Amino acid sequence: MPDKNRSQTSPTGDTDNHQADMGLVLRAARFAAWKHRDQRRKGRGALPYINHPLDLAHALWFEGGVTDPVILAAALLHDTLEDTQTTVQELQGEFGERVAAIVMEVTDEPTIAWRARKKLQISRARLASIEAKQVKLADKICNLRSMISSPPNGWTVERQRAYFDWSKEVIDQLRGVNPELEQRFDQIWKRRP
Ligand code: ZN
Repeated sequence: MPDKNRSQTSPTGDTDNHQADMGLVLRAARFAAWKHRDQRRKGRGALPYINHPLDLAHALWFEGGVTDPVILAAALLHDTLEDTQTTVQELQGEFGERVAAIVMEVTDEPTIAWRARKKLQISRARLASIEAKQVKLADKICNLRSMISSPPNGWTVERQRAYFDWSKEVIDQLRGVNPELEQRFDQIWKRRP
């Protein structure tokens, strides 16, 4: 690191902390990009999967005012347990207990049938941590936006509506954590097909 920057380090180590925070977020982005490297989004554009976690982190920071690097890292990693070969132990080792715990909270139980899993997501939402609730909010905002801009191939309007309705049921369980994000969710939900 250049001396010019080093001299700006405060006695409290703020610059060091800032760099550790940036490092955590960057490592999470790189890890997620690698894990999702062969996956594409379901929508018409078939975007690279990594666009989705990046959208979440972007929405949290720029729309929700979320600056906690632990939440941003968890957002970047939020689909790795569910959709890639990643293990909890791997996340704990690479990113620490807090990040791993949030990712676990927003991961659906894979052994349960689809319909029950969707129901469980509604009942679990209320009990989630404040951190996980915000990741969940960003996830639903980004998914509804994708549904509007490029609905998955073969999805009927009825199926899209059902997805909007289910998303609202989940979000209604966790309101009160981030008014800005909740407002963004309501805005996009109004565009229900
Ligand atoms: Zn997601």
